[in-house]
Amino acid sequence: MRRMIGLGLLVVAGAATISATQSPEQKPNVAEIEKVRDNLFMIKGGGGNTAAFVTASGVVLVDTKLANWGPAIMDKVRSVTDKPVTMIVNTHTHGDHTGSNDYFPASVEIVAHKNTKANMQKMKQFEGDNKKFLPDRTYKDRKTLLKGADRIDLYYFGAGHTNGDTIVVFPTLRVAHTGDLFARPATPLIDVNNGGSGVSYPDTIRKAATSIKDVDTVIPGHTPTTTTWAAFAEFGEFNAAFLAATKEAMSAGKSVEDAVAGLKLPEKFKDYGMQGAKDNVTKIYAELQAK
Ligand SMILES: [Zn+2]
Repeated sequence: MRRMIGLGLLVVAGAATISATQSPEQKPNVAEIEKVRDNLFMIKGGGGNTAAFVTASGVVLVDTKLANWGPAIMDKVRSVTDKPVTMIVNTHTHGDHTGSNDYFPASVEIVAHKNTKANMQKMKQFEGDNKKFLPDRTYKDRKTLLKGADRIDLYYFGAGHTNGDTIVVFPTLRVAHTGDLFARPATPLIDVNNGGSGVSYPDTIRKAATSIKDVDTVIPGHTPTTTTWAAFAEFGEFNAAFLAATKEAMSAGKSVEDAVAGLKLPEKFKDYGMQGAKDNVTKIYAELQAK
């Protein structure tokens, strides 16, 4: 009880300090945590979804959100375990997934696909002294980290959102974190500047969906709820249908505008967000024309 009173006073004092000295934008970032399995959690807010996997030797984080979200991540990790963070996996290069790498001690091992490391090396946030927050270990097609119940499998199947998208699988828990290869059920962002490809996207997901076995639950890159492996596979079909419709419009000689206006996808994709349709048709046209 004494502890609760103390906390209450702290909160009041903290609020007073904030209102006196800081604008609302400078309020401390606060994340949310959701249990996915007994030792696997999803930390939401501040950019991409972070996974926190509590192993025998420490906590493995998948993605570190935007810059300045380290304390918010650790606050939620501390609500479920006292173990230290020992490893970070970055699913891809973007600043809303790698932004708080620099909050963690340089001794924390950072792992990513080799193309993601190359992409991160081009980012301002990893220049100079911050090079120490770049990945320490990389891989090409597949990599296994840790052992037994703590085993983590990393998979790369080709270009999609970027050219270094890792799918992180926790095999004993039958859960995968897909990063932004599957951010949400909507037209994906195709980051051509970081090697993304709208032409390869459907194949990349199809390969992943058929090669990776025994996953039931998916932590997507951005949707703040878990979803299913079937939804991930269906997202691949959505991208295949989108690519087919775009190719058809292009061979019919349609402009990008006409292609977007006439884009018809099967009824089962009616709930998918189409905000990125024009952007993706433009990029797929450019990619096909360059071939
Ligand atoms: Zn991204």
